[in-house]
Amino acid sequence: MSTDPHHDAGNGASGGAQGGGGHTADARSGDTRSGDAPRMFASMDDMMANAYALEAEAAERYAEFADLMEAHNNREVAELFRKMARIENLHAQQIRERMGWTDAAPAPRVPWRWEGMEGPETGDHADLHYLMTPHHALQVARMNEERARRFYAELVRRAPEGALRDAAVEMEEEEAEHVRLIDAWIARTPAPEEGWDVDLDPPNYTD
Ligand code: ZN
Repeated sequence: MSTDPHHDAGNGASGGAQGGGGHTADARSGDTRSGDAPRMFASMDDMMANAYALEAEAAERYAEFADLMEAHNNREVAELFRKMARIENLHAQQIRERMGWTDAAPAPRVPWRWEGMEGPETGDHADLHYLMTPHHALQVARMNEERARRFYAELVRRAPEGALRDAAVEMEEEEAEHVRLIDAWIARTPAPEEGWDVDLDPPNYTD
């Protein structure tokens, strides 16, 4: 609908998150990855709300990707994505416990969405196409794992010494590990041939 994350971010920035000083203009100037930028976070709580959203989103997308890979009869990559979904879910739970959120986790001011091949997702996942090959799915996963890693690196940089910072260090390492894992899978997953997105035998949806 009309929930444009960039507008929300703009409003939020002018509404008091002025810690970033003169950087507000940058946030509006087409840096599509500014969702991970420090200036977007009003507080550590907001940052942790974002961390939670990041993990929950990853878990959801991985489950979706696993289904996609099953449709491609690629069991191995489907299994990898199921495993990733479990790990990211666990991360989300750990954040919830650490923050003592007993009910629903607070929503971050700037929603976190996986980026597709064409740039940030708008919510309809248009380019998370059902024809996406394992190779493409792995590329998208890698891009988002790296983005998550950068997010935690920033959290490490900003968090004061203590349990929260230690947790962020751990999370950054784990996301870096995910990047390496995905890289290893990319290395042994051949790029699709020309015309991969032309479906000669479209699926029949029976439901
Ligand atoms: Zn990850």
